Parts: sequence; C-alpha cells; structure tokens
Amino acid sequence: MQRPDLLWRLAEASHRRARENLRRRLKTLDAFDAVHGHIDRHRVTCFCSNDYLGLSHHRAVIRALRRAAMEWGAGSTGSHLTCGHQRPHAQLEEALAAWTGRERTLIFSSGMMANLGVMQALLTRGDTCVQDKLNHASLIDGARASGATLRRFRHADTGSAARQLALQPDAATLLATDGVFSMDGDVAPLHELAALCHREGATLMVDDAHGLGVLGHDGAGSVSAAGLGQDDIPVLMATLGKALGTGGAFVAGSAAFIDGLVQFARSYIYTTAMPPALAAATCTAITLAREEAWRRDHLHVLIARFRQGARQLGLPLMASATPIQPLVLGTSEHAMHAARHLYRQGLLVTAIRPPTVPRGQARLRITLSAAHRETDVDHLLEALSRLPSRLQ
Ligand SMILES: *Cc1c(COP(=O)(O)O)cnc(C)c1O
Repeated sequence: MQRPDLLWRLAEASHRRARENLRRRLKTLDAFDAVHGHIDRHRVTCFCSNDYLGLSHHRAVIRALRRAAMEWGAGSTGSHLTCGHQRPHAQLEEALAAWTGRERTLIFSSGMMANLGVMQALLTRGDTCVQDKLNHASLIDGARASGATLRRFRHADTGSAARQLALQPDAATLLATDGVFSMDGDVAPLHELAALCHREGATLMVDDAHGLGVLGHDGAGSVSAAGLGQDDIPVLMATLGKALGTGGAFVAGSAAFIDGLVQFARSYIYTTAMPPALAAATCTAITLAREEAWRRDHLHVLIARFRQGARQLGLPLMASATPIQPLVLGTSEHAMHAARHLYRQGLLVTAIRPPTVPRGQARLRITLSAAHRETDVDHLLEALSRLPSRLQ
C-alpha cells in the first residue's frame, strides 16, 4: 500500500475545478474609496462589496480608528479572558445591545467564528440543527462541527422546516436561518419560523449579516424590521464587516445565554480579541448607521433605479428588495463571460459559481452601496444592456 500524498490530491482537485470553469482566483484591489479602485491600473467601480452604507471609508470611522490606535495600540495583546478584553470592546458590546434591543452581546473576531462558536456551545451529538438550504456556509459548517444531525429545509419554506422538525420531535433543536440571504437577497419568513419554533419548543437563531444596518428602524436589521424581540429570536448573530464597514461579528441574546458562550464557545475563548481600535471604530460606525438614515434612503433609491432599469432590459432579476441584486445566468461559463464583459467596461462584479450556489444557478452577485451615485448605477445598466444576448 502506498500512502496517498495530500498535496498531490489537493492539486488534482484544483485542476478538476479549473477544467469545470470553477477555479477561484484572487484579485488584488487598490481601493481608493468605498466603491472605486484599481486592479492592475485598470479603474473599476465595485458592485460586489458588502459595504452597503459606504462606511468603510467614512472619515469619522477612520479618525476613530486612528485615535483609538494611538490610545490602545495596534493589537489587543490577548484573548478576551486574559487581557485582550479592553474598554473599547465593552463599549462596543453595549452599543450593539442597545441597537439590537438585546440584554447582552459578545464580540467575535469574525462571523465564521461566531457561528462556529454558537453552534458548538449549544449543540451536541443527538441534537438536531434544522437549516434553510441556502444558509451561509458558516452556519452549515457550525452544525457539522457540533456533531448534531443537520437537516436542511427548502429555501424560505416554513412547511418544509416543520417536516424536518417533526422527524425528531424529542431532540433538542436549533433552527438557524440567514435573515437576508447572502446570494439571493431575499428575507427569511421570520414570523412564521418564530411561531414554528415556539410551537415546537425549538430555539431560533438568525444570522443577520446582510440585514444589520440596512433594514429596520435605525438599521437594527431584519429581525427588528419584523418586530421580533429576544423572546422570539433568542439567538441573534450579525457581522461588523458588512454594512458597518469594519470587521468582526457579534452574538446577541439573554445575559445567561451570552455567559454560556463565554464559558463554552471555543472560537471565542481560544483566539486573540479583535484590535481595540477596530472596536472603537465600529462604535462610531454604529452611531453613523443609526443616525444617518439618508444612507438607507439613498440605497433604496439606487435599488429601485437598478431594478427598474434591469426590468426594462429584460434581465433575470430576483425577488429582492435589499442591496443584493443577483442576476442568475445559469452556467458558470455564462457568469464568467458576463463578469469579464463588465470588467472590460470598468465594473467589478463577482461571478458566483457552484458550490457557493446550486448547479445551474451561477450568477452575477450585484451589490449596491450608499457610496454609489446614481450615475454609477446607470453605468452598470448600460454595460449590462451591451451584454451579448446569449449571456442573458
Ligand atoms: C459574511 C457572512 C458571515 C461570515 O462573516 P465574516 O465576518 O465575514 O466571517 C456569516 N454569515 C453570513 C450570512 C455572512 O454573509
């Protein structure tokens, strides 16, 4: 028996991907504001960032980062339970609790780590984790790593979720869903799911990475827009690297739940706390996201403008009222060609291919930001109107 070589096997899998037009490639961007930059000296306007409110380059956020770095240093120097949990982290947790209307919050270094930590702390072998088919990979991976049985239900289909729950009526169950779906832009049926979980004694978790800052009263997210509180959705998670323009993530809920995470969430305990300056910058971003409602208003003007123009061009829009406006083109080749066509016209849009989306549903994931001007959207529409018709 010859021992298989791991690096050779990985290289083989990469070659297979390349042959199927599924190879992932890094692009180095020299950004000069929230939505404009250069790639290899080619000027591009980005329609693929998650900086929905345009806060990543906001002067007040940058100033807060700089000022806090002078005061607190470049790094946190430790994990939260040693000496890494500093005043700016505590202030950020309070600001997030006030914004989301939750008793307590806990900061994680990334959304991926938050979801892994929550699931690993709550779930164990013999439990069930019921999830929407289109949930973010971090929720799926979190459930898998927890040892619980993962059962997936049809996208945004509460009846299908109920059938999955019924398969194991006695198992402790977490039902997890994206608030706003990251590749489709639609919103989960939160009221129905909350009622189902209530009836079935299951715990509901919502990942609001793409809803926070964008939806709801003062941008408090999809959960707040649906008028659902901590009793309806006891486990709320969202990221700071999207509409808030900085980085990291948090989990919100009851004081007892958050304390449980401090005790048991390994991805919280065994990692260096985010730099305190980033926490301070995020506090400023939260204030701006709450107070500058014009950013959300402008975003909605852009969304309406894009949808109206795309409809006139007969493009395959999805039922999304959020800044995520995908155009499903079918094969990976079509999506890649379309992305290349747009790139030549100075527009950076990512072609999203399997396995990130289901086979046959490769797409351009177009995202809008309050940092775009209406003329940027018009430029995009004009370039889309010149897409070779075989790609539409
Ligand atoms: C981006 C995202 C995450 C991961 O967050 P990071 O901070 O980027 O690790 C988790 N869930 C959803 C729905 C996301 O879109």
